[in-house]
Amino acid sequence: MDLQTGKFYWPETIKNKPAFPVLKEDIECDVLIIGGGSSGSQCVFYLMDKGLDVVVVEANHVSSGSTATNTALIQYLGEKFYHELVHTFGEERATRHVKLCEQAITDLETASKTIPRDAQFVRRDSLYFASDEEGAIKLEKEYELLVKHGFNVEMWDEINIESHYHFKKQKALYLSDDAELNPVALTYGLFEMAREKGVRIFEQTLINGKKYENGIWTSYTANGNTIKAKHLIIAAGYETLEFKKHKNLAIESTYAVVTNVIDDLSSWHNRTLIWETARPYIYLRTTPDQRVIIGGLDETTDIAEERDSKLHSKKERLIVEFNKLFPHIQARAEYFIGAAYGGTTDGLPMIGCYDDMPNCYHIYAYGDNGTVYNMVLGKVVGEMIVTGHSPNFDLYVQTRSTINGY
Ligand SMILES: Cc1cc2nc3c(=O)[nH]c(=O)nc-3n(C[C@H](O)[C@H](O)[C@H](O)COP(=O)(O)OP(=O)(O)OC[C@H]3O[C@@H](n4cnc5c(N)ncnc54)[C@H](O)[C@@H]3O)c2cc1C
Repeated sequence: MDLQTGKFYWPETIKNKPAFPVLKEDIECDVLIIGGGSSGSQCVFYLMDKGLDVVVVEANHVSSGSTATNTALIQYLGEKFYHELVHTFGEERATRHVKLCEQAITDLETASKTIPRDAQFVRRDSLYFASDEEGAIKLEKEYELLVKHGFNVEMWDEINIESHYHFKKQKALYLSDDAELNPVALTYGLFEMAREKGVRIFEQTLINGKKYENGIWTSYTANGNTIKAKHLIIAAGYETLEFKKHKNLAIESTYAVVTNVIDDLSSWHNRTLIWETARPYIYLRTTPDQRVIIGGLDETTDIAEERDSKLHSKKERLIVEFNKLFPHIQARAEYFIGAAYGGTTDGLPMIGCYDDMPNCYHIYAYGDNGTVYNMVLGKVVGEMIVTGHSPNFDLYVQTRSTINGY
């Protein structure tokens, strides 16, 4: 799959990139994870120290897939509104999901403090503003649910917003307990820690076939070796669809820019994460070296040529949209990307677990909060493998039902 085009920011922030060997022999293990992106590294986080022999294989270099272009706003509310999730899944399941996302951010914080490099994890508040009248009504519904279930949120009016940000918006949720991080640093750090704990990681090792026989998965590498494993996790990002498709999953296109270094960001209250109720939306964050990341303006196409043909105009539009909010900040795009982006129709990420593929988990952490979803799904799959049970498997397995059925 052609995942992305452009000039990437995160890889340039990294010193001392780790290197892992190419697999050149036949091996056996308890768990094989296919995919060396943030998803694979987050699964490893929950499988380390459990007495299991874990192997990770990556076709290219670790952190070179979507992880390298992830803008890494770490938020517990997703693209599909909480109150809409309630309509689809019921209040108990929707709330359980949002709470699991909130907990996943805490787990990311713990992981960031444990790894041997700085993942630039910083707790941030989020400003989620109403783009229009309809958006304001939706935010009222969100607010009601969030307060009811004990989330740390305030509803801000026009005066409050303008006094903090200098731009005018009718209403906004002001949410605490979100975060930002450097996704490439986090992924490198998790794999470095895993290696120290005995996890074997191989780069430039493409899996191009597999079979299940007598309780064992045999995976074949393009270099001609085999890996035998009791459990298989397919954490191949959007390329997991190349292993198994599902009607709930779709690929679209998204865009982002990273600006020049901005000397003065003092007009940006608390350097909050900022996003809006419009769909498609734009979203913003800052970086530790004083840049601004502006993303969004998604397109429904999954064709790479169509996506890339719009890259130049999207790059300019993102800066224009930013300047509508911060007209006094002189920004230009120093880094820019057009990228594939996955979503689910029902709004929740998914674990694919099929009868004809026992002991095999497909991670579809698709949606705007992919990093958070990877943490949630990695934990669920870890519990399934270690104990044979997870209290939240029902929420994410692809056979889940919605209230109206689908
Ligand atoms: C532009 C953009 C912005 C985003 N912004 C945010 C955000 O603000 N917040 C957020 O939470 N999420 C965001 N996401 C989502 C997030 O980036 C992803 O969910 C997540 O980082 C992807 O990690 P991954 O490991 O699933 O995929 P990848 O990083 O793509 O890793 C999968 C790996 O699997 C490997 N692989 C594939 N097939 C094989 C095979 N057959 N054999 C061996 N290896 C294989 C690939 O080479 C790849 O390295 C964003 C995504 C994009 C594209």
